[in-house]
Amino acid sequence: MSKLEWKLLTKKRGSSTSQGIPPGKEDLLWVTGTVTLIYGERDAVLVDTFLSEQHSKELLEWVVESGKNLKTIYVTHAHGDHYFGLKRLLDKFPDAKAIATAPVVAAIRDQIKPEYVQSFWEPRFPGQLPSQLVAPEVLEGDAFYLEGEELRVVQLGHTDTSHSTALHVPSIGLVVSGDCVYNNTHLYLAECDEEACDEWLRALDKIESLHPEAVVAGHGVLDPDSSPRHIGETRRYLRDFVASLASTTTAIELYEAMLSLHPGRVNPGSLWAAAKASKPS
Ligand SMILES: [Zn+2]
Repeated sequence: MSKLEWKLLTKKRGSSTSQGIPPGKEDLLWVTGTVTLIYGERDAVLVDTFLSEQHSKELLEWVVESGKNLKTIYVTHAHGDHYFGLKRLLDKFPDAKAIATAPVVAAIRDQIKPEYVQSFWEPRFPGQLPSQLVAPEVLEGDAFYLEGEELRVVQLGHTDTSHSTALHVPSIGLVVSGDCVYNNTHLYLAECDEEACDEWLRALDKIESLHPEAVVAGHGVLDPDSSPRHIGETRRYLRDFVASLASTTTAIELYEAMLSLHPGRVNPGSLWAAAKASKPS
């Protein structure tokens, strides 16, 4: 049986959440997306895709250059920055199947409706989105295979959105965390109340309990180390957010309290969106 390997492609893009952000962090107003190619001797599985047409083209070139036969694209959760690139890959690899869990597929079907794309995504990324968006198919069961090795879906509940998942490859100790583990990037907490933050903390425990050797963060740095230490750092960020929520009154106080604890993380727009959602004026 072949041993699987994996590699990452990261792309830097503008933030979708920087509108109206207080001045002072202009150099950090960006975010990276990360996709993972897991491959054996012949075949490959891709985990997630990118958002823009340009990055989708570059992703396709990268997959083609690998020389592997793309069999499956697994989508971890229903945020457009993880599945907008599907169509181009499926056109090039017609035998490949895009899959996700049933609730993720249902949410994606809703979100690729033209009215949602026009009202939410297009204003944030004008002229940059792929023209054709498609939803994955429902994965039956909680595992699939690559050259005989098992890839297991890990149900995480609410992380940066509900019904999130990670993908665990036990034979190589790899967890592709979706947007559960972040690396040096402000978490997207705008969809989180306190109960959802608790769920996210439990999701981190679940990933940790798998004792992974490597953990891929969906949003991180351009050259990530994929160290399991980012589980603990994400946990600390969440705990700091919950504590700061209790100790502050306004959105700007919450934003500044968190920035003082996490000054170097990229994409502070995400924190600003969370602060405004938590402390509406
Ligand atoms: Zn994301």
